[in-house]
Amino acid sequence: MLKIGCHLSTANGFLNMGKEIVALGGNTFQFFSRNPRGGSAKTIDEEDIDNFKEFAKQKGIDIILAHAPYTLNACSNDPDIRAFAKRTFADDLQRMEYLPNNMYNFHPGSHMKQGVQTGIKYIVEMLNELIKPEQTTKVLLETMSGKGSEVGKTFEEIRQIIDGVELKDHIGVCLDTCHIYDAGYDIVGNLDGVLKEFDEIIGLERLKAIHLNDSKNPFASHKDRHEKIGEGSIGAKTFTCIINNDTLKELPFYLETPNEFDGYAKEIALLKSLYTGETNNTL
Ligand code: FE
Ligand code: FE
Ligand code: ZN
Repeated sequence: MLKIGCHLSTANGFLNMGKEIVALGGNTFQFFSRNPRGGSAKTIDEEDIDNFKEFAKQKGIDIILAHAPYTLNACSNDPDIRAFAKRTFADDLQRMEYLPNNMYNFHPGSHMKQGVQTGIKYIVEMLNELIKPEQTTKVLLETMSGKGSEVGKTFEEIRQIIDGVELKDHIGVCLDTCHIYDAGYDIVGNLDGVLKEFDEIIGLERLKAIHLNDSKNPFASHKDRHEKIGEGSIGAKTFTCIINNDTLKELPFYLETPNEFDGYAKEIALLKSLYTGETNNTL
């Protein structure tokens, strides 16, 4: 069965998100670990968590994905911003353990003219300080488009971060289709080639989630503006190939497309109708 969902607002708690995603036709969802732009996180509502766990079990929601705030920049040139990133990340990881065995995705960061290598050094430092052997949460590095000074725009950069992490069992990758297409990975013309490259450089066993977004901009534009599925430069055909691809079809897929609920419901229904779960690639 296709594991599909979209980004939902945490404002009304986990049980509410569970009900929302079921109403939208999905079986997984992404949510912000806290206000995407700010720092404060709501206190954990244990009753809501318990209710959600029960609901999720009944409805077959077996995994969910948290997304760190956009303001989290582990490799900023400003030590205060790096310290904020560490505090936020540490607190988020603690909170995630109330919902064990799920995933926490973050943007590696922007190096702000310090250079990619310095950026990677700071990211690795944070991960090694905060990832604990006993944690059940998988930390995911998101592939980025390379706008500004973003780190993680190539598979090699992601690989270098992973190489630096000591507790590698807790690390995975979230591939964002809009970001990698904008970064210059031609998933439209050569999906199998891109996946082969991912496998050779990072290893497909590290791939844990997919952000399913069309792109408003052309190939290799380094822009990062998401479009509705089938309405951008990537196109519906490529998404059909992605969700049915032998090496990807079991992964959870998350829409971060510019939609309200009705638009998400339509995209989820569309993707479910396109899903065969059968082999259609040669990798
Ligand atoms: Fe993201
Ligand atoms: Fe994304
Ligand atoms: Zn994006």
